[in-house]
Amino acid sequence: MKNIILLAPPVAGKGTQSKLLVEKYGLAHISTGDLLRDSLKEETDISQKIKDSMNSGRLVDDEIMIELIKERLSKPDCMDGCILDGYPRTLKQAISLDQLFASLNRKIDYVFYLDVDKEILRKRVLGRLTCPNCKSIYNDQIENMNSSNPGICDKCNHTLIKRQDDTEEVFSVRYNTYINEVEPIIVYYKEHKVFYDIKSFGSAEDVFSKIEEILSFN
Ligand code: AMP
Repeated sequence: MKNIILLAPPVAGKGTQSKLLVEKYGLAHISTGDLLRDSLKEETDISQKIKDSMNSGRLVDDEIMIELIKERLSKPDCMDGCILDGYPRTLKQAISLDQLFASLNRKIDYVFYLDVDKEILRKRVLGRLTCPNCKSIYNDQIENMNSSNPGICDKCNHTLIKRQDDTEEVFSVRYNTYINEVEPIIVYYKEHKVFYDIKSFGSAEDVFSKIEEILSFN
């Protein structure tokens, strides 16, 4: 069983690496961004608050996130290991996640830090397109990353959508938030000796082979 965290700035490729990890290792994929977007389909007391945070690029409150992840991790598909994509994003979330895992007799095995240059991220954010059905990710501004039929998912034929928060302005807030929050998380996981720095230039396959190599050695 492997429990993996992907720690990375926005649009660094966490979703793509998660998909590759799911295909190879059959782990449950937990994207807190997707969980939040799904939760917005129902009108609840806190959904407007969540929507406001997401649309402006700010983080959703730790208390909401901690409850959300607790519920998701209790589902049966997580019992054989999971990939956390977008969680934790604050030190408080990281500490509470360890407590949660400890109570389930489990632990975090790997934290892969996908290190990507800010300028590359900015270009990626403006072209990202997502399939709302199978969650496949495309990019109409990067060669070899567009779908064969523009605007349509290659895998399930659904119409691709642009995320509301994929704008230059929101990206800037999200990136700065990330930089402010990530340093203590890195220090925390280095201390716990589960931290792996993955220099993420090159193709998604190149990045994935670095991850695979670490997983095969441990
Ligand atoms: P993502 O799809 O991972 O890029 O997340 C989209 C947005 O959801 C972020 O910009 C945050 O507003 C919110 N979000 C996702 N994960 C978290 C988290 N672990 N803590 C707080 N906010 C989050």
